Amino acid sequence: MPESPEVECLRRSLERDLLSARVVAVRVFRRDVLRAIGFDRGRDREQRRPLLGASIGGLERHGKELAILEAGPDGRVLRVRLGMTGGLRLDPIVPGRALARLPHEHVRWTLEGASGRLALRHVDPRRFGDLVVFAGPETYRHDRGRLGIDGITASPRAMATRLGSDLARSRRSLKAALLDQGVVAGLGNIYVDEALFVARLDPQRACRTVGTGEWQTLARSIRAVLRQAVEAGGSTLRDYRDARGMAGSAQRAHQAYGRAGMPCLRCGATLQSTLIAGRTTVWCCSCQH
Ligand SMILES: [Zn+2]
Repeated sequence: MPESPEVECLRRSLERDLLSARVVAVRVFRRDVLRAIGFDRGRDREQRRPLLGASIGGLERHGKELAILEAGPDGRVLRVRLGMTGGLRLDPIVPGRALARLPHEHVRWTLEGASGRLALRHVDPRRFGDLVVFAGPETYRHDRGRLGIDGITASPRAMATRLGSDLARSRRSLKAALLDQGVVAGLGNIYVDEALFVARLDPQRACRTVGTGEWQTLARSIRAVLRQAVEAGGSTLRDYRDARGMAGSAQRAHQAYGRAGMPCLRCGATLQSTLIAGRTTVWCCSCQH
């Protein structure tokens, strides 16, 4: 499943071509992947032709969620959640040659901009993700309030404060708490294991036993792990690709995730694997406490 570094790489790969481009046509192949929220009038139209006529003013990401913003203070916002298998593809449209519908392509936007005519295609085989059109930025930001602080852009100090205050009395394990998007947004199974490894913290440890200095170390580790993954183009394990079909290479730098039974790169002990919060968790019982 894509986590925030993969979504950030997708955002960057779309930004250059989408900024200032205009949506001139929309086709919805499958209506149940899409919802419209906050429209007094025109809700049906928006569900049939989301963002039609919009000039793209910006692309934002918070946690694992991507938002495509219509230009202007009251512009519509398209929020994209990729779920397990979702993706966005950008393909040039060649005059006289029709683009066939891809397997599991649910929505296609035709855009005109500085890069010519482009097709932005939403593809999601398993459909655990979704698309939501919000009537304006306020409705969108209000909805986004359920998410915690963003792990890539938040300062380590702000993140440490948030972790320490939200989790000070929590009996939950560190692993379970970090998977909760309401605390730090953007971490999933891979980068939680990586951040806890870097911070030398045992994923099974109850949050209420973690001290101030340890929260600070953890916040710095989360940010470093996520930023390094963005620089490496994200992790491609099964099918993650950016909008141009490029795979990432962050998986080569994983120190914990996927390495159960192999020697710890720090101390040489054998990495352990166990199920925490329903997720396979890999850590070193010799150097993570
Ligand atoms: Zn170790």
